[in-house]
Amino acid sequence: MSAVCSIPTSSSPNLKYRRVLLKISGEALMGPREFGLDPDTVARIADDVKQAVDMGVQVCIVVGAGNIFRGVSGASDGMDRTTADHMGMLGIVINALCLQNALEKINIKTRVQSAISMDQICEPYIRRRAMRHMEKGRVVIFAAGTGNPYFTSDTGASLRASEMNCDLIAKGTKVNGIYTADPFKDPEAKKYDKLAYMDILTKDLKVMDATAVSLARENKIPVMVFSIREQGNFAKVLRGEGEFTIVTDEK
Ligand code: UDP
Repeated sequence: MSAVCSIPTSSSPNLKYRRVLLKISGEALMGPREFGLDPDTVARIADDVKQAVDMGVQVCIVVGAGNIFRGVSGASDGMDRTTADHMGMLGIVINALCLQNALEKINIKTRVQSAISMDQICEPYIRRRAMRHMEKGRVVIFAAGTGNPYFTSDTGASLRASEMNCDLIAKGTKVNGIYTADPFKDPEAKKYDKLAYMDILTKDLKVMDATAVSLARENKIPVMVFSIREQGNFAKVLRGEGEFTIVTDEK
């Protein structure tokens, strides 16, 4: 059995973040593809998660479904929004199972808990049980977002991080932090090292939706935005190394 499942946090007193929620967008699982899941990319991300677990960090994960289906796109094509969002949440479950499979292949104990019950496939979301899993060193993957339409998986991430008393929301994106503008479109865009939650709202920075930011702010959970595309980066940013933007209440 891998040592990953039994490292008590008390044996890692120097950890800056003891319990972390990793938010991965669906697109991050797509790798070089234009749709769906890229097995090599998912395996690489699983390995990144393992590095953090090996450090003694309790990790839970919220994944999105932009690589499969987004409710807003369905609605703009004329679908009923609620139905489209249900499809989006089912897409999240597909991604969660894929990630679970990749993590278990490298001997990380995991549980998928879904906000929408599907007992034959995974556990339902039960907060206390999720806490217990994490205390035992299992990685809990929260699937199906908040379970409600009209929300995003980022809001699901802030919600679960709040419920699980996480010390940090680590949002893995395509870029290494939050920029003044989209760095893929604007070569003049500058990266912020630090931001206040309110800056995201007032500057209308497209990093997380307002509900997700407000929930993180209310519960004083810092949000770290970093690139999930670089191998080993998750563990690195948790040690305070490498490039990222940290969002807190401090100016
Ligand atoms: N979704 C939802 N409620 C939630 C979370 C997600 O209805 O609480 C649906 C919504 O349709 C969304 C899709 O699931 O578009 C995928 O989530 P998201 O767009 O946030 O994924 P990401 O951008 O992180 O890949």
